[in-house]
Amino acid sequence: MREERKLCCNQCGKEIRIVQGIAREDFVTVKKNWGYFSKKDGRQDEFCLCEDCYDHLIAGFVVPVSEKERTELV
Ligand SMILES: [Zn+2]
Repeated sequence: MREERKLCCNQCGKEIRIVQGIAREDFVTVKKNWGYFSKKDGRQDEFCLCEDCYDHLIAGFVVPVSEKERTELV
């Protein structure tokens, strides 16, 4: 049985298909449990971004993301 579900990029609404627990394309998920020192204590936020939207997002960063070449690719 093929189990299939879909995620949506929160920024552009693009669908990301997940077949048997494996996403058909790479994407970013962010899950944040806000804590005591925030104004959102007790709240959990979650969103996902497709690769294009991720590229747009980090293009606006003042400090670039740290990049590392991975030697072991699974
Ligand atoms: Zn997107």
